[in-house]
Amino acid sequence: MQINCDRLKANLLELSKIGYNEDDRGVYRPGFSDADMQARAWLQDKAKAAGYETYMDGAGNVFFGRGERTKPAILMGSHIDSVPAGGIFDGTLGVMAALEVMQTLDENEVESETPIWGVATAEEEGRFGGMFGAQAIVGKLNPDWVLSAHDADDVYLKDAMAAQGLDAMAALDAAWRPEQLKAFLELHIEQGPVLFQDNLQIGVVDGISGVFKWIVHLKGKADHAGTAPMNKRSDAFMGLADFAHEIDRIIAENGTDKTRITVGKVELKPGNPHTVPGEAVFTIVGRDMDEEIMKELANTCHKTLSAIARRHHLRFEYEQSSWLGPKPCSKSISDLIEKQVKKRGYTYTRMPSGAGHDTQFLSEITEAGLIFIPSVNGVSHAPDEWSHWHDVESGTNVLLDAVQALLKT
Ligand SMILES: [Zn+2]
Repeated sequence: MQINCDRLKANLLELSKIGYNEDDRGVYRPGFSDADMQARAWLQDKAKAAGYETYMDGAGNVFFGRGERTKPAILMGSHIDSVPAGGIFDGTLGVMAALEVMQTLDENEVESETPIWGVATAEEEGRFGGMFGAQAIVGKLNPDWVLSAHDADDVYLKDAMAAQGLDAMAALDAAWRPEQLKAFLELHIEQGPVLFQDNLQIGVVDGISGVFKWIVHLKGKADHAGTAPMNKRSDAFMGLADFAHEIDRIIAENGTDKTRITVGKVELKPGNPHTVPGEAVFTIVGRDMDEEIMKELANTCHKTLSAIARRHHLRFEYEQSSWLGPKPCSKSISDLIEKQVKKRGYTYTRMPSGAGHDTQFLSEITEAGLIFIPSVNGVSHAPDEWSHWHDVESGTNVLLDAVQALLKT
């Protein structure tokens, strides 16, 4: 059985026009924007035309499928919102692939007692914090958060939803019970370079990296850059530079090949070319697949920064602004996906996901699996994001096979 890649391609290209910007050739569909809602309406029309029932829940998630949900359902999907100036694949691929798989099963008259549903989750990309729809499905939202969430322009989530005729508090009623689900499957582009560089067709994802974020302050003494002798300074930048040099060692001694440590945002104060920086404020974001290793990495960062601070006569302070543990995918589902990939003869690897996905929340209430296809040059969240159509086809065929295999379990 094969999916119809021409139909899938036509759908993806049609959807890519919603929120498309001529100037930078990017897709603009931030959560609950007009374009995002237009895309959701478009999807509902598509699903209806293909003969499926469809509805939007209180969180703005769009579901499409068929049949009474008296038995645990197989749910497939991803998200349909985008970052500003995003590409045409990202989560959209997983949503349109879900519809394609359902149509292929129907055309081949695959009958099943198990309800099969697709979902386009709401606000995955983070305008208001991200994974809003997935968190609603797994019952993770609370009223405080829903009412206080706002975007970078101080537009409140509740107001953005109200402007689209939605009541944000209704998102609290969108939760599924674990017994309503048999499994969740998500097809997504890798958004990294591994599959493309290694010339592999499929990534079977074992889990999603945990991530912690620190905001670090190294405080020294601002001083005149001309008169302060080099050996009498408390130069906060020197501390930051020393830390940057230690990152490779910290990973070699305490991390794994899956560890990532990034200093992504830096500010020097007072920030004047003629003044020795009195303070360096910077972020550290650490990731790994193992929470114990994350703890060790955090611990070692702490020790290293303390030692550096002593050496440069600085004060070291930090706050941990987030800590999200790693989320393994269901091993039985990953194994099942791997089996289908092997049967098709596709080249593949088992791999972690460095980026977050809807799967990480869905895995809290059901067996969840995540399938990657290559991103050309590893580019994503940019107009240059691309995946080859033959890879789109392979990935969707794997999704198709995985659903069929699940129907037999
Ligand atoms: Zn995505």
